[in-house]
Amino acid sequence: MRPTLFISDLHLCTDRPGINQIFFDFLKNQARQAQALYVLGDLFEYWAGDDDLADPFNATVVSALQDLSDSGVALYFIHGNRDILIGKTFADACGATLLPDPSLIDLYGTPTLLMHGDSLCTDDEDYQTFRAQVHAADWQQQFLAQPLTARKAFIQQLREKSEHEKRGKSQEIMDVAEDAVKTALRQHHHPRLIHGHTHRPAHHLHTVDGKTCERWVLSDWYAHGEYLRCDDSGCAVVKL
Ligand code: MN
Repeated sequence: MRPTLFISDLHLCTDRPGINQIFFDFLKNQARQAQALYVLGDLFEYWAGDDDLADPFNATVVSALQDLSDSGVALYFIHGNRDILIGKTFADACGATLLPDPSLIDLYGTPTLLMHGDSLCTDDEDYQTFRAQVHAADWQQQFLAQPLTARKAFIQQLREKSEHEKRGKSQEIMDVAEDAVKTALRQHHHPRLIHGHTHRPAHHLHTVDGKTCERWVLSDWYAHGEYLRCDDSGCAVVKL
């Protein structure tokens, strides 16, 4: 039986060629043996819009993903907060399917809830206000109507502002809120949960309404590559 693989928070950009190479090698090797690859957000450090597909680095990533999907591996994306503007043009170019956040899938018989994870960080009220704004269709339409260079400049400003604000926030505020996790697990009838975003890879167990649910938090790809490998016997972390 071929496994299903999950990755998130690669934050691909031209600044980290070593990690990019690990990702391209992963797509050619481990991912080729899989039934499906799910990217649970923040594949890119930022995404200014699907009209940036001609950028040489973006084109290389799209081509590598297209090779994978052409080889028969099903490819799925959930938006992260960094690449919320990934659209159907990008997905079609990769041969990928865009999924809503959250998405409940049947993973070898185990109901499994997939999220990026930022919607669970409900203690960070400023962030949730911002998130609601940039998820709104009219905001996205207006933003995408600006020239690509203006969008990139705006995103650069936003990244600097976010780095600055993060320094003033406690680790607890930026982590998922236990209540939000339990609410999500309850709403979806106690599935397994897989998400990224917090850059705190872990395997948690939550007891909700007397039922035990496992929660896998995926690693970022800053220091090394890492994926979650699942089949009918369960899930395990694999470091690259
Ligand atoms: Mn994120």
